[in-house]
Amino acid sequence: RTAASCAAGAILHYVKTTQKGTLEHIDRIGFYERQQALVLDAVTVRNLELVEPLFTRSLQDGATTLFQTLDATLTPMGKRLLRAWMLRPSVDQPEIEARLDAVSAISSALLARDELRRALDGVQDIERLLSRVTLESANPRDLLALAASFARLPGIRSAVHAFHEKSQRFSILHTQMDLLGDVRGMIEKTIADQPPLTLNDGGVIRNGCDAELDHLRDISLNSKQYIAQIEERERKRTGINSLKVKFNSVFGYYLEISKANLQHVPQDYDRKQTLVNAERFTTPELKEYETKVLEAQEKIVEIERRLFTELRAAIAAEAKRIRRTSLALAEVDLLAALAHLASQRGYTRPIFTSSEEAEFEIIGGRHPVIECMEAPGAPRFVPNDLYLNPKSQRVILLTGPNMGGKSTYLRQTALISIMAQMGSFVPAQRARLPLVDRIFTRIGAADDLARGRSTFMVEMTETAAILHTATPRSLVLLDEMGRGTATYDGLALAWAAIEYLHDRTKACTLFATHYHELTELSEQLTAVKNFQVSVRETPAGIVFLRKVEPGAANRSYGIEVARLAGLPREVIERAREVLAEHETSAHEATEHLAHIEGHALSKHNAPAQLTIFTPLSQRIVDKLREIDVNQLTPMEALQLLAELKKQLEHA
Ligand code: ADP
Repeated sequence: RTAASCAAGAILHYVKTTQKGTLEHIDRIGFYERQQALVLDAVTVRNLELVEPLFTRSLQDGATTLFQTLDATLTPMGKRLLRAWMLRPSVDQPEIEARLDAVSAISSALLARDELRRALDGVQDIERLLSRVTLESANPRDLLALAASFARLPGIRSAVHAFHEKSQRFSILHTQMDLLGDVRGMIEKTIADQPPLTLNDGGVIRNGCDAELDHLRDISLNSKQYIAQIEERERKRTGINSLKVKFNSVFGYYLEISKANLQHVPQDYDRKQTLVNAERFTTPELKEYETKVLEAQEKIVEIERRLFTELRAAIAAEAKRIRRTSLALAEVDLLAALAHLASQRGYTRPIFTSSEEAEFEIIGGRHPVIECMEAPGAPRFVPNDLYLNPKSQRVILLTGPNMGGKSTYLRQTALISIMAQMGSFVPAQRARLPLVDRIFTRIGAADDLARGRSTFMVEMTETAAILHTATPRSLVLLDEMGRGTATYDGLALAWAAIEYLHDRTKACTLFATHYHELTELSEQLTAVKNFQVSVRETPAGIVFLRKVEPGAANRSYGIEVARLAGLPREVIERAREVLAEHETSAHEATEHLAHIEGHALSKHNAPAQLTIFTPLSQRIVDKLREIDVNQLTPMEALQLLAELKKQLEHA
């Protein structure tokens, strides 16, 4: 790694010369290789809403990102590590298993876990405080904050000890954790209980730390007391009751006498300053004590500054120990937080399938964020299963109406994989997963107009990246591909992309689409399987069941969903007519074609059954067909008419 070492050396040199400080806060340089982590590109991080929501929502909406949902950490270091693990999940199985063992050990021991979490609560950002120490910008309160955090270490360490037999990772963390009692002692012995923020006025260092400092403080205090006595004495001498000894930083100490009393001012007073209502005086005696106080004060600040700097340097000298402890704390905090969530939310430990097998088998999988967003009284999140394997079922073609739950299903699969490779338990009843090397997503429409790219262009660029870089060990999610262009272009591109993913890339793929025409691909490509999100048709419209099951949806229910969204009734009716006309002419055209070419079309090629009417109106039409008008009495006819009208009105 010669080149890497040279580059690192050059950077260190650059930092050292430009920052002019010490480099003590850098204690280690690590070699980082992309292959060591599950790669999540920026688009995927955004699409999956790992750390930032796609849309800015109001605060009341609660957690909308995976980070917020999984953040049960108690320290800032734990929070940062959660982010790091989430954005760079591991691909190293022993490492992941070690984390999972630790999570498993803590999640099953409720009391010990609570004790550990109680001990962690309140630890401050040791890492950041330490960098302020080494960069020489830490103030007195920063040092006290460090000491207060170190004071929690014995409790944390003994709580960690409870797990050291059950989890090897915890026994390592236990040994990495230093109690830092010596450093804490140094701080507590030196810094006063409630020190000011800056060193400018003294009062930072405790009494008893330095003999000279104590002596100067005595002088300063005595002189101040003496000056206070001068006030009493002079009042009596002059008979001016309102006489005051005051201090300001420009004029030092002075006697202030109001205009009304000026005739009583004794001879030995020197005039210093005239104000509107008063005059200020000094005396030789006052000057003498003023000098004593100010000189002492100056020295006090100087000594305090020196002692403080020495203390800061002494802490900086222990930076390595402190940093190691802080890293161990971060991991303990995060593992305990993941364990806490696992037991609270019923997550299970994922099992990794071998690289030859590389199956995904998720039973009862849930979307970790959406399941937590459920409002009280709202329907529960519907768990779903998933099965994928690289040989016989590597592309799932998911069809179903808009709002049916397709995107959710895609995202939850990716999130479960990410959580598993972070070392977390996952929201599923059971999960067997391969170690994936990359997760790709092409989800939803995102305009990048600022950079001059239309939705369609963005989509195609992202798809190109996926087709070029996905490997057989990747997980690919494509949602609604081909939307931003004419229907047949989009369909054709989606079709070709699936063929490419199936034959060439061979990555496990979830492909959600509203082009139900694509479902035909499962007959031509062996490892493509059709699944659909189910809906129930009721007289009042469609009901989303959110259950993913084998099979292909034969309609897209677009008009139905638009009706639910509240489009004006006239628009809905007109859309139905247009659709019907369109489908009839397409039907006639294909029949005509079939006739000319003399070949029978497969049933899939024929357009779906004429859907001129919604399920409800279809029923009315059927009913009319059944009726023999000649058999009806005028009364019955009238009743029938009223009934049909009523049904229509309730549609
Ligand atoms: P589609 O991609 O099919 O248009 P989405 O995945 O966006 O549909 O889902 C629409 C809404 O349905 C989501 O906002 C979500 O709240 C809800 N939803 C999706 N899947 C489920 C589920 N399994 N259980 C409960 N609600 C779900």
